[in-house]
Amino acid sequence: MLRVEGRIANHDREFEGAIEISTETGLIEHVGPRTGKSDLNLDGQIIFPGFGDLHIHAREDASQTQAYQEEFATVSAAAIHGGVTHVADMPNNPIAPVDDARYAEKEKLTAKSAVHVTLYAGIGPETRPLTRHVPYKAFMGPSVGDLFFTSPEQLESVMTKYRGKSVSFHCEDPATLKESKDAATHEQRRPARAEITATEFALTLIERYGLTGKLCHYSTKGGLEKIAAAKARGVRVTVEVAPHHLFFDETMLTEKNRLWLQMNPPLRGIEDRLALIAALREGLVDYLATDHAPHTPEEKRRGRSGVPHLDTYGAFATWLMAEHGFTARDIARVCSYNTGCFVKEFLPAGFGKGFGVIEPGYAGSLTILNLEAPFVVRREDLKTKCGWSPFEGYVLPGRVTYTILKGKVYPAN
Ligand SMILES: [Zn+2]
Repeated sequence: MLRVEGRIANHDREFEGAIEISTETGLIEHVGPRTGKSDLNLDGQIIFPGFGDLHIHAREDASQTQAYQEEFATVSAAAIHGGVTHVADMPNNPIAPVDDARYAEKEKLTAKSAVHVTLYAGIGPETRPLTRHVPYKAFMGPSVGDLFFTSPEQLESVMTKYRGKSVSFHCEDPATLKESKDAATHEQRRPARAEITATEFALTLIERYGLTGKLCHYSTKGGLEKIAAAKARGVRVTVEVAPHHLFFDETMLTEKNRLWLQMNPPLRGIEDRLALIAALREGLVDYLATDHAPHTPEEKRRGRSGVPHLDTYGAFATWLMAEHGFTARDIARVCSYNTGCFVKEFLPAGFGKGFGVIEPGYAGSLTILNLEAPFVVRREDLKTKCGWSPFEGYVLPGRVTYTILKGKVYPAN
């Protein structure tokens, strides 16, 4: 039995309490009042239900051709370092998991990860749904990898086969990207209207085919208004936002950092950034999801899009609290509860009621933060195999002290 007590934050309440986790089942057995007996000294810290990251690129597949960037063992270490207790991995691998056999083959490799990995299956011009119940990802236009569509008609004709499924969309309209391809900067080549146009189409597909939709790494204020209207009329859609779109904007780009801060969709204006922060805090945006994209420093210098974030997930959450008025309940909602709700229907046996709530019957996976201990982001401390972070040189206001996976304690230092 693991017993921890202190300040506890669920999405719906904050309280002082004690948690007992069975090290046999890995599930929370009891939550009650404090008694003064704790296996860890958590004075001045906050205990959250384990954080989840619904958008990562772990890079490993049976081909192993991208394992120099990251693999399940290293992504798991980076997740634990960042307080992340479960992740969902994207399908744009060289051997993309687009059918039952390839999905099962990739799933075997996830055994190397200590944190639970939910796998998305890919949707491409030639694919069909798997026989198993899994979440899907559709890249609407070209990004990193080969799974993408060249026209809305082509995407819609495939989507008719995925009626009722859970589908996550990368919203960038291929026609707009094509029109803008000769513009001067990466940001201008992937303009806001590419995302807004694709959002309208994704919302239409979600409604028309009864999908449970999720919009990935959202970046534009203009699109948020369309999502708010869709949610108000009952469309089943949720939204992710990534740390880079909340922390950085175009006004912060310099000659020196511009290649390092290149990603798809790109950084936007300051008004987009502030609108995204408010939307996450107020509930229009549902998840803090990193789009962890571990390219090596050499690849970044050559203009590869994507940035790694798993090591800094928990420390970044403390920045949202210190700088943007997020309460501990807000953090529990966007990092723990909503992410737990998303993966619940796809979890194998052994996770009880799933992730995201500190209550008996849920997975005994916890994230513990110290809001008062600043986190200096240094390259040598990172666990991601790609070995760098967009936050190097910054000090985040707090840090992860412990990550607990089904009752097993991983101290951060
Ligand atoms: Zn991604």
